[in-house]
Amino acid sequence: MAMNRKTNATIQAAFRRRAAIEAEKRQLRADYEQRIAALDAESEALDNAVRTINAAAANYLCPKCGGDGELRRPDAAGQTETVSCSDCKGTGLKQN
Ligand SMILES: [Zn+2]
Repeated sequence: MAMNRKTNATIQAAFRRRAAIEAEKRQLRADYEQRIAALDAESEALDNAVRTINAAAANYLCPKCGGDGELRRPDAAGQTETVSCSDCKGTGLKQN
């Protein structure tokens, strides 16, 4: 009888612990999803900021190099070399 009570207590403790583990896993998944959503929102805001800056800067980019500030051209050896844009002097921005 004493053995039986102990066995029942052990089984009940195992069930309680298993339920607690499942609850902890659910909480971890919820926290994870919430954190991922927050990071996604932050990432989207950064993308939007870059788009805004690019749109604002588009009118001021050097038309010759497209804002890169450098041009690629073939050198004497037939390789492609990168040189500073002569129109904007490497700034990438339209000059008056
Ligand atoms: Zn340029």
